[in-house]
Amino acid sequence: ERARLKRLRNTPSVTLDGQAVELLANIELPSDAPAVLEAGAVGVGLFRSEFLFMNRGGHLPDEQEQYEAYRAVVTALNGLPVTIRTVDVGADKPLDRLSVQELRHEHSLNPALGLRAIRWSLSEPDMFLQQLRAILRAAAHGRVRILVPMVAHLQEARQVLALIERARASLVEDGLAYGAVELGVMIEIPAAVLILPSLLRHFDFISIGTNDLIQYALAIDRADEAVSHLYDPWHPAVLRLIAQAIEQANIMGRGVSVCGEMAGDSAFTELLLAMGLRSFSMHPAQIGSIKQRILRADARALGAALPAVLEADNPQEVGGALLRSGGSRP
Ligand code: PEP
Ligand code: MG
Repeated sequence: ERARLKRLRNTPSVTLDGQAVELLANIELPSDAPAVLEAGAVGVGLFRSEFLFMNRGGHLPDEQEQYEAYRAVVTALNGLPVTIRTVDVGADKPLDRLSVQELRHEHSLNPALGLRAIRWSLSEPDMFLQQLRAILRAAAHGRVRILVPMVAHLQEARQVLALIERARASLVEDGLAYGAVELGVMIEIPAAVLILPSLLRHFDFISIGTNDLIQYALAIDRADEAVSHLYDPWHPAVLRLIAQAIEQANIMGRGVSVCGEMAGDSAFTELLLAMGLRSFSMHPAQIGSIKQRILRADARALGAALPAVLEADNPQEVGGALLRSGGSRP
């Protein structure tokens, strides 16, 4: 089985009916880059940059240190796209106490709803500018895409775009080289799905963060054991939000990927294909098994089965059966 997965590495991921599907990798640190290539991923769909900021004992990475880390990944990927998510600290990914004190932020009563991700970045514009400059500089060495986490408001998108402009202008002023970037927004709050057409006017692509989208759609703290039995990726509301986001992005001709756990969970591969998804980003170790499912799937037949799944009271039951019979070879 291991040998078979290894042979799979160089097999293009295409469905039975000829639909190409992009398989990307999620990484946390530059040292993860070799695993991306070994897995046969065609790029990094999610570089969780906050891991450069965690476990630092109060000392956060400056622009140069970040630039070197991003450049290391971009260089290792050798022309393949690298999607760098701006810091997503807070909630389940806290900064060290010292760093937090240094930045004078109060303890939040409800951190998942508090100053995390893009909210934190916009509240620390000097630090955010350093990160944006570091990413733009790394883009001089390869194909870089910026991904903005936890956007809920159009105004946040506008602020990010303005800060990217400022970062570029300051690099010009300093005579430092930088490269072009594509700009993406993470869709992980239901409000962002509902205003997607407006958001998409400002972005080249979206990446759906199902881990948080489930948390915020169902009001289930993803880190709270007491309610983990209610954290249900098959909830009809969750599936409809995901389907709506994918459809909207496809209609508007924007790239769309899923980078939450659902992308690497083979229980959802056929369902996501049925929704029109053609780009998945996951832990490198999951790429082989997801590719195997894609090779056996008939995307057109799956698409035809989708409405019944989305309308079902129990999509897991209906979806399991329908998608298995409609989408794959026995
Ligand atoms: C997500 O929310 O699905 C996601 C990919 O981001 P993270 O798990 O890092 O919050
Ligand atoms: Mg998230």
